[in-house]
Amino acid sequence: MLDKTQVERLEAEAVNSAKTRQPLYAARKKIFPKRASGNFRRFKWLVMAITLGIYYLTPWLRWDRGPFAPDQAVLLDVANRRFYFFFIEIWPQEFFYVAGLLVMAGVGLFLITSTVGRAWCGYACPQTVWVDLFLVVERAVEGDRNARMKLDAGPWTARKLMLRLSKHAVWLVIGAATGGAWIFYFADAPTLMGELFTGTAAPVAYITIAVLTATTYTFGGLMREQVCTYMCPWPRIQAAMLDENSLTVTYNDWRGEPRSRHAKKVQAIGQSVGDCVDCNACVAVCPMGIDIRDGQQLECITCALCIDACDGVMDKLGKERGLISYATLSDYNANMMLATAGGSSSINPSLVRTAVGTFSDQVAHFHIRKIFRPRTYVYMGLWSLIGLGLLYSLLTRDRLELNVLHDRNPQFVTLSDGSIRNGYTVKLLNMIPEPRTIVVTMEGLEGADMVVVGDDIPAGRSFAIPVEPDRLKTLKVFVRQPADQIHAPAQTFKFRVEDRASFESNEYTATFNAPEAPK
Ligand code: SF4
Ligand code: SF4
Repeated sequence: MLDKTQVERLEAEAVNSAKTRQPLYAARKKIFPKRASGNFRRFKWLVMAITLGIYYLTPWLRWDRGPFAPDQAVLLDVANRRFYFFFIEIWPQEFFYVAGLLVMAGVGLFLITSTVGRAWCGYACPQTVWVDLFLVVERAVEGDRNARMKLDAGPWTARKLMLRLSKHAVWLVIGAATGGAWIFYFADAPTLMGELFTGTAAPVAYITIAVLTATTYTFGGLMREQVCTYMCPWPRIQAAMLDENSLTVTYNDWRGEPRSRHAKKVQAIGQSVGDCVDCNACVAVCPMGIDIRDGQQLECITCALCIDACDGVMDKLGKERGLISYATLSDYNANMMLATAGGSSSINPSLVRTAVGTFSDQVAHFHIRKIFRPRTYVYMGLWSLIGLGLLYSLLTRDRLELNVLHDRNPQFVTLSDGSIRNGYTVKLLNMIPEPRTIVVTMEGLEGADMVVVGDDIPAGRSFAIPVEPDRLKTLKVFVRQPADQIHAPAQTFKFRVEDRASFESNEYTATFNAPEAPK
């Protein structure tokens, strides 16, 4: 018991106590990925060539749309508010096609992630592709991992300065080419290229190139894996999409542990060893600088280069490939149970092998049917449904549109001969890049005729009018009906438009207003 003059001492410590405080900032540890070779590396080269080829070359593809439209196959014509994609022309009011494609891309990403994990990150994400490209340059200039580490650790010499300057110069050229390719999507590429080099392009073109050069250089050359680890939200989101049947790059410790660099010696003293010889080849090739043997990690982009590295080691040792492999959590768990005798012991790799050293029949392997499960059916169904809906809408969309606005004030006018006249603003939208002659016809409204204000077209129930390619034509039309034909204060009739060359037509139901009791 404490008396009144004594103060109780409590067991408490501040959560950020100076004694235990960790710095919030951790300096980046440099990563020097070693060149990998193998099936996945070859596949990545292929994806890299395709994706970069598409990005850099697409603006140079031509597509003949006739003399009244640009001949660039893919063009975002912001000034005229059009998006051209080969034979498809999207108007601003049809932007839902672009929105639909983005939704499809999102659902497709869910589908890919739930089946093969972060394949997007490992193979096709622009950050991954450009970092790969920047690493190609780095290796070409400074050498592979050991040479780069030596150079980095060494003092600044004329050679080091030259190598570093060369590397950064090539990186900047790639950055500029990336920015340059981007702006070619927004204007005629050959024309803009000429303007860029003669200094006559719009300032926004130079600013865009400068910004994209800086971001490509910074993200691809300087920040690299930090973009994936700290800036990108996808590693966090993907966890919600993976399940125990999703494929992820996995270190199969049920056959790899206990690892040993001196397997023969360890076996000689009667201890069992796994297949991992602790050579660190998987760590050396990893562009994220992590060790997959530590288990699934947020940083792992599933690029599978560690699989290639380890397969190479297994080949040399004469062991089965796949110590690191794409595997599902359910297969991994089943094999771990086998290797640990149901979880009752530490890993004993002999439990997964037969007496002759081959894998036991009980070892679980991935089967393609695991891809087909309720979750992937839902994603595939949704993706197909949106795709088919967009396709149907695209194939059946109108290229000749009609919009009619009835004059509100006055709603009708009584002419000197007693007939009633209504005014309309008729908008004809020719959505193809060719001139057309549109025939406008009235249907219904007995005895009525129409005239086009400011045009020489004689009064009648039909007239033909030319409309420029890809243009909206606005007409002021007066419709007149003799008094003796009017039998209601509001009658409906149709404006019908038709292109007799293409048999395309459209119609609009309008109202003709008259006084309650026409005289
Ligand atoms: S651990 Fe393997 S799959 Fe993951 S990022 Fe590193 S090399 Fe790629
Ligand atoms: S490459 Fe294979 S054998 Fe070498 S440390 Fe990695 S897992 Fe072990």
